[in-house]
Amino acid sequence: MAVRRASRGIVYLVGAGPGDPRLITVAGLDAIRSSDVIVYDRLVNRALLREAPEQAERIPVGKRPVGHAVAQAAIDAILIDRSRTGLTVTRLKGGDPFVFGRGGEECQALEAAGVPYAVIPGVTSAVAVPGLAGIPVTHRRYSSAFAVVTGHQCKDPSAVDWDALARIPTLIVLMGLATLSRTARRLMAAGVPGSRPAAVVASGTLPNERVVTGTLETIGRQARDASIEAPAVLIVGEVVRLRAILRSLRRTPDVECTNPGREPIPAGRVPA
Ligand code: SAH
Repeated sequence: MAVRRASRGIVYLVGAGPGDPRLITVAGLDAIRSSDVIVYDRLVNRALLREAPEQAERIPVGKRPVGHAVAQAAIDAILIDRSRTGLTVTRLKGGDPFVFGRGGEECQALEAAGVPYAVIPGVTSAVAVPGLAGIPVTHRRYSSAFAVVTGHQCKDPSAVDWDALARIPTLIVLMGLATLSRTARRLMAAGVPGSRPAAVVASGTLPNERVVTGTLETIGRQARDASIEAPAVLIVGEVVRLRAILRSLRRTPDVECTNPGREPIPAGRVPA
């Protein structure tokens, strides 16, 4: 995908990747380097902002886990106003813009305003954070499907078909730290065994990554005991066992390994 300095304004909706700044795409980096304005979310790695031209305007619009820093309408207005004055704008979002990133809504706003825009996908934390912690989201023996859900929906249990989710072999929950124990209880109520392996990976792909592994029944308490902080991904599924085997992918020890009173989950058997 060629990124060219536009003669009239344009907005590039760019996925910044899951955390490690090297995990942005080549096209995404090109967009940053050719932009006059960078409008960025809270989870975007600051190292990427340094890639923009020195004189580029950098506008943080990050949302906190609780409350919104800048209302969506205000973000849309920034993108529309800046691009209409002929500027090249990069809207930089964590992971992939279309995975719980409101990228679709921003495209709609730009479409309605008649502003030219292009989307440059990113590496989503939903897949890359578990993956780089030694947990492949699919595996021929353990899991033939995965679902990505938001923990926010747990506040309104009727919005989620828990029985359907309970049948998916790998569940990945984003924005789910505050509601972790509730999610676990709902899944168990829907028939997922409490013994199913589960993991929480916080600040995945970054030097301060932390990983807790346990079971669906224990993971909420473990994450609390370990004072795990957002951003974090919850993974529920037999694939979590692979972390014990794919040792080269483990850059950080399991948090629970520092606690000798707690048993790590059994590795299980791997296919020959
Ligand atoms: N569009 C993003 C997701 C936005 S929702 C993407 O594709 O990755 C924000 C959530 O993503 C966080 O609450 C957390 O659940 C997850 N997340 C993002 N970066 C993360 C990281 N480095 N480590 C763990 N979880 C992360």
